[in-house]
Amino acid sequence: NYDQHKDSAHQIARLSDRISAINKDLVRPRRELKSLEKSYAAARAAKQESESRTIYQAIQKERAVVDTLVAEQDQISDEASRLALALPNLTSTLTPTDHAPKVLKYINYDPDHPLQTNGKTADHSTIGQELGILDFTSAATTTGWGFYYFLNEAVLLEQALIQYATSVALKYGWKLVTPPSLVYSHIADSCGFQPRDANDEQQIWQVAQGERDAGKPKRSLAATAEIPLAALYANRAIQEEDLPLKLIGTSRCYRAEAGARGVDTKGLYRVHEFTKVEMFAWSNSSPADNPSEEKVTQFSTPLFEEMVAIQTEILSALGLPCRVLEMPSSDLGASAFRKIDIEAFFPSRISRDEGWGELTSVSICTDYQSRRLNTRIQDRDAGRTRFPHTINGTAMAIPRVMACILENAWQPGDKSLLIPAVLRPYMGGAERIVKR
Ligand code: AMP
Repeated sequence: NYDQHKDSAHQIARLSDRISAINKDLVRPRRELKSLEKSYAAARAAKQESESRTIYQAIQKERAVVDTLVAEQDQISDEASRLALALPNLTSTLTPTDHAPKVLKYINYDPDHPLQTNGKTADHSTIGQELGILDFTSAATTTGWGFYYFLNEAVLLEQALIQYATSVALKYGWKLVTPPSLVYSHIADSCGFQPRDANDEQQIWQVAQGERDAGKPKRSLAATAEIPLAALYANRAIQEEDLPLKLIGTSRCYRAEAGARGVDTKGLYRVHEFTKVEMFAWSNSSPADNPSEEKVTQFSTPLFEEMVAIQTEILSALGLPCRVLEMPSSDLGASAFRKIDIEAFFPSRISRDEGWGELTSVSICTDYQSRRLNTRIQDRDAGRTRFPHTINGTAMAIPRVMACILENAWQPGDKSLLIPAVLRPYMGGAERIVKR
């Protein structure tokens, strides 16, 4: 899409020049209009009827000139906004450009472990159904494929995963929020859920009921808490001394996944509705002109790294074999400037991506989202407007992590699931889940 975005950028620059030119063209008629209005008031006060009529006609003429120019400017401005909204963010120099992620490090990974070499284990949906904790068939009757019921210990496991991830983030000073799950579609657009991926519109569930905008439903189901968390400060200024601001929120996420489920039709790996604990932060931005990349992200990079540290701590403690990846530009989506994913090893997926599947993602979005949402920094020397950077990251995406635990902690000998030690306090101290 590079050429298309380059054309759009040039077009925006041309439209912006035209807006400036119209501003100049407006100076004379606006000044003239003001002066005519003054003369008109004076003529009326002096009861000069014919003079007033002549001036009034001149006012009408001048007003028509101003209105025509303003209407043209509004139309150009709308077109520029439409094109700007569809532009992706810039890309970090640390981001690989060859479509392949760069492996930064491994966690809990032993390439000689038998599961990790032969992948001959049952998949999580078979294990979960055998343990009596997952039910896909009934969900297919209730809602369709891609939905599920958690039963018995799976419910406790879900709550334990939420609480454990939240407790780690709280230790790092993150503040708790419960966001709404329905959002205005334009808010989702502003967060970047559209442009780089032409299919994004199909990925978002729209809500037919309620207000409509140009015939389209005004609200969508949030695909991630990133959207309502980002919008918490839309059209607001954050005091510079309150930055960084770090929020963690748990929400249901809704993904249409149109056409994407393919081979993932079975199980929890790719579902339409799930619970996710999400981190969202605003950092200060560099006030300098034309700064280096290091300077641009001097405040957002430490938060980005803190999120990776939180993710690493959580996944290490769960005992999941993982690898940390610097993601390539082709994988950044619209809003990310830089992105790190952590993938875990799923023995049942050995024939796909050598068993690796994404568990978490963290992105620096620089000022891409805050500009679009009009979130500003209230500066002490309030001379110019600055926009904060936003950074978002997964703390815990329940179904995929649960699937990964089921496959990696399954004990085929006695057909039990070993519960990771850090989750046991949230599950009444139980060590294992056994077949009912
Ligand atoms: P994202 O918000 O798309 O970056 O996704 C964050 C995390 O949510 C991913 O790393 C996955 O672990 C999980 N995830 C994303 N999409 C799905 C889905 N359709 N079903 C289950 N988990 C998902």
